[in-house]
Amino acid sequence: MWGRKSEEDNLYHELLELLQEGCGCLLCTLEERYARKYLEMMLYEMVNDIDTRKELTLSRGCCRHHAHLLAGMGDGLGAAIIYSDQVELFLQFIDREAEAGQRGAAKGISTRWNDHPECPVCLREREAGERFARALLNGLKKTEMRNAFAGGTGLCVSHFLRTMESVKDRGTRDFLFTAQRTILQSLLADLDEFKRKNDYRFRHEPFGREKDAWKRAISMLTGD
Ligand SMILES: [Zn+2]
Ligand SMILES: [Zn+2]
Repeated sequence: MWGRKSEEDNLYHELLELLQEGCGCLLCTLEERYARKYLEMMLYEMVNDIDTRKELTLSRGCCRHHAHLLAGMGDGLGAAIIYSDQVELFLQFIDREAEAGQRGAAKGISTRWNDHPECPVCLREREAGERFARALLNGLKKTEMRNAFAGGTGLCVSHFLRTMESVKDRGTRDFLFTAQRTILQSLLADLDEFKRKNDYRFRHEPFGREKDAWKRAISMLTGD
């Protein structure tokens, strides 16, 4: 029980710190951080772990996003071990297909290759994401967390909608609508100011906080 409590406390403080640092969508940031940690663990400790390799074999490796994240982590050997399996699998697959399709076209070949369980990192990231969203909702019962959230850049559209789906109490629901609304209005004002300063008549005016408004708008709509 104590362990669970302190885990909740740690998560609460991690959330609070990220919001106070200014992190873009809090839930995107936490999920990405989690995915990196998971991939690191997979690379450094579990590369020769039978169950993990089997799971990766069944899922045909990672999804595009997580495969590229893995590629950027600089562990060539770990990636080589995991992806040797994948290259071998694809080779066996096209051999089987070539054999089976001798008398006809390769119709349905994409479906046959793409029919597999989900990327293991996506799967765990989603579970972790639900935990993060619950921690945020719990945290928002406190003024400290509410102030940090209101001072931040809000949630991306996808995380905002998903979080709203699981809000249980009216107070948090109203707070989130109001805070997100205020953040959106301020973003819109920054976008207007950015556009105005791009007008040749005002080009001599230096940029302020609106300089990255377009980046924040893209992040807000599509996630980080
Ligand atoms: Zn997000
Ligand atoms: Zn994935």
